[in-house]
Amino acid sequence: MTDTLSYAEVIGDPIAHSKSPIIHKFWLEKLAIEADYRMFHVKPDELADYIASRRDDPHWQGCNVTIPHKLAVMDHVSDPGDVRASIGAMNTIARTESGDLFGTNTDAGGFFAPIADVPLTGQDVIVIGAGGAAQAVLFALSRIDVGSVTIINRNVLKASALLARFGLKGKALEHGSALPPARLLVNASALGMKGQDELLVDLSSLPDDAIIYDLVYVPLKTKLLVAAKARGLETIDGVSMLIGQAAVAFEIFFGQAPPLEHDEELRKLLLA
Ligand code: NAP
Repeated sequence: MTDTLSYAEVIGDPIAHSKSPIIHKFWLEKLAIEADYRMFHVKPDELADYIASRRDDPHWQGCNVTIPHKLAVMDHVSDPGDVRASIGAMNTIARTESGDLFGTNTDAGGFFAPIADVPLTGQDVIVIGAGGAAQAVLFALSRIDVGSVTIINRNVLKASALLARFGLKGKALEHGSALPPARLLVNASALGMKGQDELLVDLSSLPDDAIIYDLVYVPLKTKLLVAAKARGLETIDGVSMLIGQAAVAFEIFFGQAPPLEHDEELRKLLLA
């Protein structure tokens, strides 16, 4: 690195689709912080060299980590929060005060941010999906003592294993099963995402105060959210979590909380 501006970045393969630079640059500008946030294409066989080069770069504040590096990166950094044993994947790398690199996962906090005011203790929840995003969701749910958790997933065994791993009571069901009543339904699967199959669920068994939270953000108005709105249910879209997980990372990188009062303006930028 030849310039002297402090910076953070997002790494992945592919990386061009990442929305992280839009979010972090927006907040840096609003707070007049003289720093940069970039995207950097890192292929799997380049990860070790990448980490080694950034470790020695004093201007580098850290990086967000996206597919396919969320597991591999755990072998290169310390894990003070025991993320490997809990969520099982890292999405943020930064420096400790002594300059060492550590990893963490801001997805669970990002997921939780839009529902922080909802009294979910003891309430039943449905989670669709059992991949990386679902693990962050289940970790967050395990911390707030929800009631029964029903995981609906193509691979039911994988879903059952996650219930046990996070110490949650509940059951695992196949797609197409009737939904049990629940206060919160989260789509943490790839279904409904652009280029993927549609998520087909019948929301009629849910109570009138159910909240439908879709982690998918491309498209933003998924068929699930449209169906939930048509039933008069409260909805939360994937951009809320996207902004939430970035907010936790921003504070780690740049030492200041982002100005969330500009969220509506940021949303417009993200959707442009
Ligand atoms: P992942 O680890 O690849 O998991 C994908 C999940 O979707 C698995 O449960 C998988 O089922 C299921 N799935 C995929 N194709 C399917 C199909 N054709 N039929 C049925 N199930 C299918 O992906 P991820 O990282 O968890 O991401 C999942 C979604 O969350 C994506 O849409 C992603 O964009 C979104 N996400 C959003 C945010 C945010 O900030 N808003 C953050 C992270 C992720 P099996 O287990 O049976 O394979």
